[in-house]
Order: sequence, then C-alpha cells, then structure tokens
Amino acid sequence: MTAETGGKKGERAGEVRCLNCFARFWPARGVSEAACPECGWSWHISWSGEVAKIRKPVWESWERQLAQSSDEG
Ligand SMILES: [Zn+2]
Repeated sequence: MTAETGGKKGERAGEVRCLNCFARFWPARGVSEAACPECGWSWHISWSGEVAKIRKPVWESWERQLAQSSDEG
C-alpha cells in the first residue's frame, strides 16, 4: 500500500452508503433524492458542501416497490 497524498481528488466527495444493502454510491451533486444502484431503494440526501449524507428512506418509493413485489392471489 502506498500513501495516497494528493492522489485522486474528490472521489470521496458526495459518497454515500446505502443503509439497506451498504453499497457505496455517488448520487448526482445536489440531488435531494437518490436511488441505490445495488438494491434500488431511494433515499433522501442532504448536502453539506460536497459531502452527501443519507437522511432517511423515501417511503413512497419503498411502498411502491413493496406493492409491486407483493402479488396476492
Ligand atoms: Zn442499496
């Protein structure tokens, strides 16, 4: 392992970790909602400068997914 000082910049900026499947992903800068590319669940995103943070799930999207996946009959 080499010490990375001043290597690639900005890769960590905007990175979030899905609270459902723990995959890391990079939502588009400044978006208020982003869907995890791994599991597809949507999250509310808040921004502090370049740092993104997952706030809470987008329940409407979850309910929509659950409704789609559950078929009674
Ligand atoms: Zn996920």
